[in-house]
Amino acid sequence: MKLLKLYAALLFIALVTQVGFAQQSGKVYTVGAMNEMGKNNFQTQVWLDTLPDKSHLFGIGPYDRMKGEIMVFNGKPFYASALEKGKSVVGQSWDIRSPFFVYANVSEWEAFELSGDITALEDIQNKVATIAQKNGYDTKEPFPFKIIGSFDSLTTHIVTPRSADVEGYREDFKQQVFLFNNSSGSLLGFYSEKHQGIFTSSKSYIHVHYLSSDQTFMGHLDKINTAVKALTLFLPVRPKSYKTGFRVNDTDFSKGRLGNIQKVELNDLAKLHGHLCDGLVVGHLALQEALLILYPDGIIDRTNTRIVSKPSPCLTDAAVYLTGGRYQYNSFYISEDFDGLFTVQRIDNGKTVVVRMNQGVKPESINLLGTKAIKGELNSCELEGLKAMEDDFSEKLLRTDPKTIFTVAELTDFEWNPLLKNDFVKTDILNKDARKCSQ
Ligand SMILES: [Zn+2]
Ligand SMILES: [Zn+2]
Repeated sequence: MKLLKLYAALLFIALVTQVGFAQQSGKVYTVGAMNEMGKNNFQTQVWLDTLPDKSHLFGIGPYDRMKGEIMVFNGKPFYASALEKGKSVVGQSWDIRSPFFVYANVSEWEAFELSGDITALEDIQNKVATIAQKNGYDTKEPFPFKIIGSFDSLTTHIVTPRSADVEGYREDFKQQVFLFNNSSGSLLGFYSEKHQGIFTSSKSYIHVHYLSSDQTFMGHLDKINTAVKALTLFLPVRPKSYKTGFRVNDTDFSKGRLGNIQKVELNDLAKLHGHLCDGLVVGHLALQEALLILYPDGIIDRTNTRIVSKPSPCLTDAAVYLTGGRYQYNSFYISEDFDGLFTVQRIDNGKTVVVRMNQGVKPESINLLGTKAIKGELNSCELEGLKAMEDDFSEKLLRTDPKTIFTVAELTDFEWNPLLKNDFVKTDILNKDARKCSQ
């Protein structure tokens, strides 16, 4: 029995880790905080080796208990120290720790032209914000950036240990300054308007580290003065977001005529359903694909549509809400006897389609854990882990071309065969009394 439990726990950890690999490109994560580290004698808060996804990782922070600086650049972990006067050394290892660290995985960057001179860090901040805004980035959310090329003049520092119990401590030294003229390399920065004291100083929206192109020097950028002739700014390629929502056509009052056209969004559906979950996103997107084939003009006639749904609570809510189908008017029923999520019919011309989710789209781990949750086999923390996996999956669905998620096929031999059955299990309320993970 104990062994079984251990196996279940290991399986759970394995599944969660696996999903951890699907990080959203450019999403910024933080551990620890700049304004907290002095209060607890610069104790380290993260061991970089434990970060789940090191591919295309970019990050900055102090090295260990202020032994220097860290910059992870495209999955390469650089750390620099300046423990001896006038000297600095750079190494590479994942076996390093940091009292605060800000990082993001970015697999694709987009290049932007910089213009005008840069005479201060604020110029970098302003130019990056302006270019980001102009190109549709949400500057209210944190994001990483790179500036690569040649710099006329840079002032950098590497911090040094602050207490005698840390190797390399020298009284009255907090950092060593290093100046560069006509150097070339990469600046890695993180921009945020809401992380002052966390990973930017109280007066700035950016924190920037510099890595020389020969990788022999790395440090924190304090001052800059340069023309931008030979510099390029890079921002993470933004995840595509696909349009969701329908236009629907209904009657205009209790005895009214067709022609009341309204927009129905995913959030409206979430209110009917009770929460936004991956199943609801699947149902919404699947019906979007199916209904656009029945109504090529994009306006769904909810008085002219009937639907057969699989029994999941999410899918059935999506079905009745979006199509207007109702059992009592012979326009909705539930069946498990077909291959797909929904079968949808346009009543006036009889055209019928079935929509299926493609193999391999949904992570098998979510199904496995979902089955366990239904059997009451997940504890409260495991339930929260499952929720995080489902949320990740929802986000991924909304960033993926629905044509690659679903297949819609026309049915020529479809028979409308409404069954009334009321013993399906409403699986999304089975764990309603489970405690919070932290309790
Ligand atoms: Zn720094
Ligand atoms: Zn749901």
